[in-house]
Amino acid sequence: MLVVKIGGGKGIELGPVVDEFAEIVRDGERAVLVHGGSHETDVLSAALGHPATTITSPSGHVSRRTDRRTLEIFCMAYCGKVNKQIVEMLRARGVDAVGLSGLDGGIWRASRKGAIRSVEDGRTVIIRDDLSGRVESVDDAFVRVLMEAGKTVVLTPPAVTEDGVAVNVDADRAAAMTAAALGADELLLLSNVSGVLRDVGDPGSLIESSREGGVEAIRAAAAGRMKNKVLAAEEACRGGVSRVVIGSAGGERAIAAARGGAGTVVWADDSLEEAPGEVAR
Ligand code: ADP
Repeated sequence: MLVVKIGGGKGIELGPVVDEFAEIVRDGERAVLVHGGSHETDVLSAALGHPATTITSPSGHVSRRTDRRTLEIFCMAYCGKVNKQIVEMLRARGVDAVGLSGLDGGIWRASRKGAIRSVEDGRTVIIRDDLSGRVESVDDAFVRVLMEAGKTVVLTPPAVTEDGVAVNVDADRAAAMTAAALGADELLLLSNVSGVLRDVGDPGSLIESSREGGVEAIRAAAAGRMKNKVLAAEEACRGGVSRVVIGSAGGERAIAAARGGAGTVVWADDSLEEAPGEVAR
């Protein structure tokens, strides 16, 4: 079982990677696709006159401010545009794909963040109405039912709280929870960078694997949104996934390349201790 997460960052071309994913499924491998949609959300938010804004925590972590209107636009982009685009591409390539958000059927059960501290113009304010959270559990039984019926499942945020509120969650960490819940051997986190770079400005500074300096070295190098990918990789490994590859979604054979070790490979046996802290998306 393979779980592939395709990022939603700027510049990711879906065609080739979805093509390759379709080929893997047609060859008989069991695989689940998880995707993001952050760039499309930014574009749509601007077009609809509700531009994206961010929350900066006192420790400097930046995440999307998700008020009710933003959540609606988020759903339009993630569930409406990107999810249906991928399902259409897969179906056109002979794959019986079904696209769902983590809200549907309660696939991704999340806790909602309480009061969030945000630094605005040098002052710390408390935001209480943010609709964001983190996935706590996955209804893997439902996903398995779909797979047993021959469907290929394409999942995307939002997730849903116990009391039925849709929340924005980080798709990398949701993919990690999903991979662990489904007993996947491998998780690929593919985005617009080649992996975790020692220096984000230098594409030649790729950390190839956790064998080099342990997960600590990877954690230390990751800034901004890359932190969530590293946390996701560690969570997946702790959940029983043998290895996670943080790699590029670009190129003709991105999935084969990542499976062949192109990118940053995090091995489960290098990431057994608890990771410190966490970052919201
Ligand atoms: P996606 O939305 O496609 O899943 P993200 O934008 O969340 O991807 O994460 C990838 C981004 O993380 C890169 O585009 C880069 O700007 C940022 N980043 C921060 N630190 C690093 C690092 N050490 N190595 C690589 N990328 C990094």
